[in-house]
Amino acid sequence: MFHFYRYSFITKPLTSIILSDEMCPACNKKGCIEVTLYLRYAKVFIPILSMGRPTSVCCIECGHEIKSVNTPLFDKNKYSPGVTNGIKDIQASRKRSLLEFINPWTVFILLGLALTYGLISLWSFSSNKTDNNELLKSPKVGDIYKVNIDSMFISADEKAVENKISKTLFKIMDIKNDTLLMVRNKHKAEGIGLSESDWNSLSRKNNDFGNTPYKISSKGISEKKEILEFFNKKKMDSINKTDVVKSTNPFHFSKSIGKIPDYNGIEIIERK
Ligand SMILES: [Zn+2]
Repeated sequence: MFHFYRYSFITKPLTSIILSDEMCPACNKKGCIEVTLYLRYAKVFIPILSMGRPTSVCCIECGHEIKSVNTPLFDKNKYSPGVTNGIKDIQASRKRSLLEFINPWTVFILLGLALTYGLISLWSFSSNKTDNNELLKSPKVGDIYKVNIDSMFISADEKAVENKISKTLFKIMDIKNDTLLMVRNKHKAEGIGLSESDWNSLSRKNNDFGNTPYKISSKGISEKKEILEFFNKKKMDSINKTDVVKSTNPFHFSKSIGKIPDYNGIEIIERK
């Protein structure tokens, strides 16, 4: 029968030394006491957990066993100074390999750390999300929005269209029903804003924002996380005139300027 979880404990000798000055208490011969260092590990197809590095001491002449490899870790037996030193020496002589560090305790501690980290990041992420959503639902004058802007550039030879992403800030100056009157920061930074610090270089000062407000759809921000600018009246009238099916959907009368970052951990709206 096949067991997926078939495991075994392996005790593998790593190295051994002969204690030349030690005498065997059984056969009284000298220079035949051997100290062996083992590596013990649990194995499920592949070695997974180190269970320590036990030692054994025995006479290679008569087979007398001074210390068994299965002696418990906190061994109360007294050995001769020569044997005690021999055990110390052999343990110090071999550096621990990576495998030997992966013992049950390290795995336990690592799992604990990973779990703690996961819970903390999950908690901070979800609290950030709710904050953002609360603010999105109830825009207030003075709110500053982080915005990634997609701009199309025609290349010098006019053959290719290049897409450049930059980031800037929009600020609410007034609110009229579904329309937010927003001014745009005079500066922008290149590249997409993936983390909070990407927006740090932009000034939040009043005089760093332009004077002409954009008419932005509040619905576009809360529903699509998009900065949608309403067309002017002339264009809206012409759309109304030419369209066969009359639309009241604000998205039908606006064009996209940029997108609000909708990913991990970014404070979309800054409110004082
Ligand atoms: Zn012996």
